[in-house]
Amino acid sequence: SSPVHIVGAGLAGSEAAWQLAQAGIPVILHEMRPVQPTQVHKTTDFAELVCSNSFRSDDAQTNAVGLLHEEMRRLDSLIMACGDAHQVPAGGALAVDRDGFSAAVTARLSAHPLVEVRREQVDSLPPEWDNAIIATGPLTSPALAEVVAGLTGEASLAFFDAIAPIVHRDTINMDIAWFQSRYDKPGPGGSGADYINCPMTREQYEAFLDAVIAGDKTSFKDFEGTPYFDGCLPIEVMAERGRETLRFGPMKPVGLTNPRDPTVKPYAIVQLRQDNALATLYNMVGFQTKLKYAEQTRIFRMIPGLESAEFARLGGLHRNTYINSPLLLDGSLRLKSMPRLRFAGQITGCEGYVESASIGLLAGRFAAAERLGVPPLTPPPTTAIGALLGHITGGHLVVEESGPRSFQPMNVNFGLFPPLDVSPKGEDGKRLRGTDKAQAKKRAMSARALQDLAAWIAESGGRPSLLQ
Ligand code: FAD
Repeated sequence: SSPVHIVGAGLAGSEAAWQLAQAGIPVILHEMRPVQPTQVHKTTDFAELVCSNSFRSDDAQTNAVGLLHEEMRRLDSLIMACGDAHQVPAGGALAVDRDGFSAAVTARLSAHPLVEVRREQVDSLPPEWDNAIIATGPLTSPALAEVVAGLTGEASLAFFDAIAPIVHRDTINMDIAWFQSRYDKPGPGGSGADYINCPMTREQYEAFLDAVIAGDKTSFKDFEGTPYFDGCLPIEVMAERGRETLRFGPMKPVGLTNPRDPTVKPYAIVQLRQDNALATLYNMVGFQTKLKYAEQTRIFRMIPGLESAEFARLGGLHRNTYINSPLLLDGSLRLKSMPRLRFAGQITGCEGYVESASIGLLAGRFAAAERLGVPPLTPPPTTAIGALLGHITGGHLVVEESGPRSFQPMNVNFGLFPPLDVSPKGEDGKRLRGTDKAQAKKRAMSARALQDLAAWIAESGGRPSLLQ
């Protein structure tokens, strides 16, 4: 059959190429380095790890990314095979010798008889490419970014990413916080009680402000020299502008009444907005920040109601090219308006090496299925890879009440998984509490994921049956 074109031999593009080639489909892999470098890549190898050398936790029982590792291993992942082969000691994490890892990925793909490598910058997507995967990552070359913006609409391609922290809903103290929309206004599809509100007294606000101003911040790197959008100033920048700026901005207390004491008006309020369709995750509205991770955890737990908050993701600001996937892509990662094009990797709005590779894995399999004339079976939403696909292609709730659009890149986490049918019980059959309960839930979700993955592979998600 005619080849599938893959643009970008990063984490996602390399994995996609491997999956296609292993399914017997020829691939042309276009990589612009070294002809055209990026601002962060340093080598000419495929799947270069641009920053840390860690694939994060390798615990498949109680950690979502560890579970994703295991699922990918079972799906014949090249990235995981090379990662495992080039492991360095890192406790419970899977860290790799970065040069050995990337060299191995490059060698395996270059040696594959069905993979042709072209070292060139792609700046157009010719109509004769009837089955192509765009996997050009957060640092997509400007020329191609312009082409993609033309296809997806300018507003759908974010170049600069303002990320607010996301909190696990079940760690918010609802004895202090309450549900209410400002002025009880129902948003589209909302009830008038869509937000979680955390109230502050004057003393609490002043102490919080001092902590934000004094907190340790990360500095911008050269490649991040983009100016702030007006709508998404970091909270510390607002805090430094004046003691009232936050109170008149994202922390304004208007239109909200504390049901526990309607006579006392809160001095300031922090709002959290539902972030996924399952309502297991809530993002802190307007709380994009450059505070260091440890500082964010410490300072945000000063907010009444968030004393024990667990964060699914912390805030940050960095350059990132990604499309509004839930709007633009279908369930098999094809651009709805031009289905000959698929997207994979960080450009689809996942975050992280492993996550990017896993979406590359799916894009490769979906493209292979298309070439083979079989339907692309999507992985069960109860698996880590399926949950992440759901986040990208529409499981994520796009709420547009105020501020910039809410689809934001995210690491895989248990908040993206459908809840368990039955709450796990202790060995004595009693209800579990606290950390024991959280751990038991994660174990049960992981066991369910691996079981459902096995069934999916047996059904036809696995390569052997795909080839039948
Ligand atoms: P990439 O791995 O970046 O691959 C894209 C490839 O496409 C590149 O090889 C590029 O040269 C090529 N390309 C781009 N445009 C074109 C074109 N027009 N024609 C041909 N080729 C093209 N994640 C983590 O898990 N841990 C980290 O520590 C981490 N640190 C990061 C630090 C920075 C500065 C950035 C920007 C991201 C970081 N990430 C990190 C996030 C992310 O996981 C990685 O960027 C990951 O590499 C994304 O995989 P990808 O395949 O989507 O893109």
